[in-house]
Amino acid sequence: MEKTDVLSLFPEELETLAVSLGEQKFRGKQLYDGLNRGVKTFREITNLPRRFLDVLEEQAELRSMTTERKLVSKLDGTVKFLFGLQDGEAVESVFMRYKHGNTVCISTQVGCRMGCSFCASTKAGLKRSLTPSEMLLQVKCAEQETGEKVSNIVLMGMGEPLDNYDNVLRFLHLVNRKEGMNIGMRHISLSTCGLVKEMDRLAEEKLQITLSVSLHAPTDEKRREIMPIARLYDLKTLMAACDRYTAKTARRISYEYALIAGINDTPADAHALGKLLQGRLAHLNLIPVNPIRERSYQRSGREAIQAFAAITESTYQVSTTVRRRLGGDIDASCGQLRAARDQL
Ligand code: SAH
Repeated sequence: MEKTDVLSLFPEELETLAVSLGEQKFRGKQLYDGLNRGVKTFREITNLPRRFLDVLEEQAELRSMTTERKLVSKLDGTVKFLFGLQDGEAVESVFMRYKHGNTVCISTQVGCRMGCSFCASTKAGLKRSLTPSEMLLQVKCAEQETGEKVSNIVLMGMGEPLDNYDNVLRFLHLVNRKEGMNIGMRHISLSTCGLVKEMDRLAEEKLQITLSVSLHAPTDEKRREIMPIARLYDLKTLMAACDRYTAKTARRISYEYALIAGINDTPADAHALGKLLQGRLAHLNLIPVNPIRERSYQRSGREAIQAFAAITESTYQVSTTVRRRLGGDIDASCGQLRAARDQL
């Protein structure tokens, strides 16, 4: 029998679990509070009766993660973690300090099956999806390792969050719980390569999170070259889903665009992108591409980036920012540490 993964459960579900194991309901809340304090074993929750602890050890599991590697940037204090999971897999998380608070970028899957050509996380395909507890543990472990509170979460690490829809949704509600980590939905961003069906499902949840859509090309032809998902959904279909999402949630969508020299960074690309986003409730985030070992992609030069941003911003009035690069000295973009580990 599979053991119950208690860290993936809501307080009410732990109460139901307690009752089903012959305990009183309030024991479930005590269990939840203990877990929330970050205990490593059930025995550390000292206000629970011995017989309940015995049953929990037999029928439930308390998941944990180990810090396999921890790289601290000398440039800006960004910390990159490789966390080991109980089945021997590993995922990456990144802790970043911003003026508006500490942000953790977490992974949602081990590997990824989306196949974007510029991304290191997808090179070996998808191993498996993460449980809600494994996503929660990335945030909690980052707090423990740094001794600092986390106020923002971005789901922009390894994996495609909407390809692990149910677990990701449960995770969002878990970290949002007042009696838990209490991280507001407005402090959470979720990035997708554009899974249209799941975007529509997400719109129905009417969450206050920020949705980021990885665009990376302004035409179907170019997008299909670097993102296989573009063969399933063309830009017209994707942008229609984005419009439905903003209509349902009234939230501005953030569009991610990794600038790759000679591939998608010409003035013509900027004009096409400006036309695509003009008039939409949109923010454009330009990311100088992070070159990966498997591909010879190069980052665009500073001038090309500025010229690109000037076109989208001034000619088309699209709110545009160029992402500041954090942790440049530690390979802080996701996928590369785990890939390196697999080669050992
Ligand atoms: N699967 C989700 C989350 C992935 S990572 C998605 O596709 O959005 C978060 C962002 O980093 C995405 O926009 C992704 O396209 C981008 N990214 C991946 N590899 C990159 C690289 N080498 N350089 C710059 N951005 C990259």
